[in-house]
Amino acid sequence: MQISKLIVCGTLSLLLGFSATANDKFKRKIDIGQKSELSLVGCNIVVPQKTSKVAAFAAKELQNYLSKSFGTQVPIVKSPASKKVSIIVGNSTTARKYGINIATLPRDGFIIKTIGKNIIIVGKDDPKVDPVRALKNRSMWKHYYERATLFGVYDFLERFVGVRFYFPGEIGTVIPKHKTLAVPAINITDAPDYVARTYTVNEQWMKRRILPKDATRMRRFNTYRLRTSTSYIPNCHGLNARGYLKRYGKTHPEYFAMMGNGKRALSGEPTPQLCYNSGITDEIYKDAKAFLEGNSAASRGVITKWGAVWSQASATKGYYNIMPQDGMILCQCAKCKPLFAKGKKAASDAIWDFFCGIAERVKKNKIPGYITTMAYPPYERVPDRKVPDNMIVKLAVRGPWQEHSAKMQNLEDDRVKRWGEKVGGKLELWTYANKFSKLDIIGVPSFTPRCIASYYAKQKDYILGAYMESESESFYYHYLNYYVFSKTCWNTSTDIDKLLTEHYKSMYGPAAKIMQDIFESFEKKWTGKIFGVPYNSPMGPKTAPASDYQIWTQIYSPAALKKLDNDFKQAEKITQKDALILKRIKFMRQKFLEPLQKASKKYFSLKNKISGMTFEVTPKTAENKIVIDGILNESAWAKCGKVTFVPLGKAKGKRVATTLYALKGKDKLYLAFNCSEPQMAKVIAGKRKKDDSSIWKDNSVEIFLNPSGDKKHYYHFTINSEGALSDAASLKKGSSQEENLKWDSGAEYKVAKNKTSWTLEIAIPLKSLGNEIKDQFPANFCRSRVLSDVKDYVIYYSWSPFLKKGFHDLESFGSIILNSKGTMKNLLTNSSFENDKFSGRYLGKWYGLNAKLANQSYSIDSNVSVAGARSLKLSSSGPGKAVLSQAVVGLKPNTEYMLVYYVKLDNVKPNGRYPGVCANIWDGKNHWLPKKWFSGTMPWTKQVYKFKTSAQKPGKKFQGIFRLFLSHVTGTAWFDNIKLYELKK
Ligand SMILES: [Zn+2]
Repeated sequence: MQISKLIVCGTLSLLLGFSATANDKFKRKIDIGQKSELSLVGCNIVVPQKTSKVAAFAAKELQNYLSKSFGTQVPIVKSPASKKVSIIVGNSTTARKYGINIATLPRDGFIIKTIGKNIIIVGKDDPKVDPVRALKNRSMWKHYYERATLFGVYDFLERFVGVRFYFPGEIGTVIPKHKTLAVPAINITDAPDYVARTYTVNEQWMKRRILPKDATRMRRFNTYRLRTSTSYIPNCHGLNARGYLKRYGKTHPEYFAMMGNGKRALSGEPTPQLCYNSGITDEIYKDAKAFLEGNSAASRGVITKWGAVWSQASATKGYYNIMPQDGMILCQCAKCKPLFAKGKKAASDAIWDFFCGIAERVKKNKIPGYITTMAYPPYERVPDRKVPDNMIVKLAVRGPWQEHSAKMQNLEDDRVKRWGEKVGGKLELWTYANKFSKLDIIGVPSFTPRCIASYYAKQKDYILGAYMESESESFYYHYLNYYVFSKTCWNTSTDIDKLLTEHYKSMYGPAAKIMQDIFESFEKKWTGKIFGVPYNSPMGPKTAPASDYQIWTQIYSPAALKKLDNDFKQAEKITQKDALILKRIKFMRQKFLEPLQKASKKYFSLKNKISGMTFEVTPKTAENKIVIDGILNESAWAKCGKVTFVPLGKAKGKRVATTLYALKGKDKLYLAFNCSEPQMAKVIAGKRKKDDSSIWKDNSVEIFLNPSGDKKHYYHFTINSEGALSDAASLKKGSSQEENLKWDSGAEYKVAKNKTSWTLEIAIPLKSLGNEIKDQFPANFCRSRVLSDVKDYVIYYSWSPFLKKGFHDLESFGSIILNSKGTMKNLLTNSSFENDKFSGRYLGKWYGLNAKLANQSYSIDSNVSVAGARSLKLSSSGPGKAVLSQAVVGLKPNTEYMLVYYVKLDNVKPNGRYPGVCANIWDGKNHWLPKKWFSGTMPWTKQVYKFKTSAQKPGKKFQGIFRLFLSHVTGTAWFDNIKLYELKK
């Protein structure tokens, strides 16, 4: 046999059961001859009688793909036929007869070997598990079992038949057709480089999103074919799973962390906060000893919600986890306080003394097994002390998506290296390639195979594997991420360029180049532009995800989406002759391009609505004096424009009213807040110094002004109900921001506290707001209602109902009109229906038809709108008409006007003599706009009309009436964003 390729490399084969150490190197052997010798077409698959259910399942998989590839059913038989090529699957007497010994194989390792006319595929399988049953089970724990024969079969199918398992199903699985196929002499012994190779899809909080039928089973199946971990090293808050508070809360309160107030943390089970310099460490040790020596949880009195059990997430055979709960309270007892007072490194070291202390006792007493914990704030720093070799550490790092940002990544990589060296490679990484928090950008693909390959491969000298936390709203965004992750973790020398080229070629044939360009552009955009725009902050280098504005106007601009659309069209055009490839391209269009188009459309429609949300600041006259005393008793406040706040987001619970008033003086902007507060006694706010950076945590209001309109530089004021103010000049960085509290506005302000409300008056000098103040600019106003007892009430309020990303979400601000001279003056009031409540047929200055209307209704609709958050809804179910009117003050005779409005119809049908929906101006005569009235069903449609008023009688003050008609019809009409203004000559 001629040896063409001999690949041997080392791996740290850490085994369950401790038969291996860091020095125990496994040698990968891939030894494949050059001459084709054994014909697979016409072969038998042999499953010997006394073999595992895993092997039987593996044989079925092999049969399925070989049969599809050859176009003829390949039989499964019980023993080899002398004249036929036989693929013998699983451990059997035949394999042993040929001297194949799997005993020394590392976990997940397998052998593929040709002997005479036989091809043997074998690995260690769990004799108790039936994969067919396991795949029906939703619990992740049921999938941690040995199935190395199955891995051998997949390797054989990939290597010799050319099958590719990108994701389950016809679209994501490539099965080349073979009329003839022969394999050379084979001698392969393979096992993964990393023992830990796990990723999570979106089975957790993103479950509500796109979840096809059968998804869980298919995803588990995917992990089988991608050969991910078959064992679990527990390492996530193990100490939560012992019931310490119930066991010792009464008898040994000193076991629990002393808080800043001198009290012990005796609530919060199952998340105990412990004192690691107390007797609890002895109990933790005894629990660890009991588990590792095979004793029951009951023998130690362990209490969990599942009873007295060692929960699988916290202890698995040979591994015992002692990681504390998140948000660790650093104990302030006499012993701990001095340790934690010496800075972050000293605090981290002190906690590692506890971890290592447990592991050292386990080792000293010759108890077999590993103690595991994460390196996680506040104990993420590499300790100076020696870490015993029976410890496995899991380090939390950002991971692959940061690959493009050398500055940030070098710091992290250095930490991985130092930890890896400290624990001799017994380090697992917890990485975050998931769309969470500000990265949860719906519709944008986080498809990033390149950086995933480079990241996990380069850590090979320091880690035993990694967990890639990887939720997203769509499995398909990450299908190749998972594939590449699994291939790299199996073999860190995987050639990613080759793998990707092959992927596009086998999936898309003649359209490979176009499709590769499309997908590579997704990765470049996600990691290079969306994941994080790097910037220097006083805290060191940071990254901020791109803002919605950047995403939809620059990164995935309408032009960029158009180009993608054309590229997909081109790919479809050149693959018309191959039905499956064409199907794949259409599938990818649906999974990748369509969500982008949908999200883009949503962004621009929302932007349209936001731009319609305006608040005209009333000019303050010289005689209208305002005394800044916090008391809103001046008549100017009663007469000026006002807006009310809405709960932020979809917050539910009891609400309170908040009203904002605004006046513009010669050189100052005057604002007043009236915050209704039925529970003034419970309000939490401190008497703080000016520019204290914690004022926002108090019961407070906030003002955001962006006078230049650049959506970058803005001013931020926070005033708590004790009258403490902070003012800052702020700068938007992607979707984050930096605040400069040194900036001083020179504002005059005062808070007044009343029985059931608190009020604020503030006068902001206009000159402090920069040189460029637009007549109309983005602004928002918010309120945080902070009380001593958290009950079912709404905490956060905002004027703009569009905020999505917290108070600093500049793109979702409304705008204030400071100076309406430059804008065209709208003659109608509340014409976006943002203010007031219907009281019978009256809505502020609007009034309904004075008639008894059994069949008509007037209401405000908060679910649909064009501008702002609300619209007007007129409905009719029978005879009659609904008419909403407003007097137009100051309409001039013989003058040209413009009317603009938006209307939407649902099932409007004639029901009388003059049926239809329209707007109307009466100025002595009627102007019907339009002349031909609307009916039927129609989405929001913009209407624009020019008209000239009639001549008026001299001497009489001229007035007109504006009306919205739902005349003699049944059905519903909505109106919004109505503007009536004079056309200047
Ligand atoms: Zn303590």
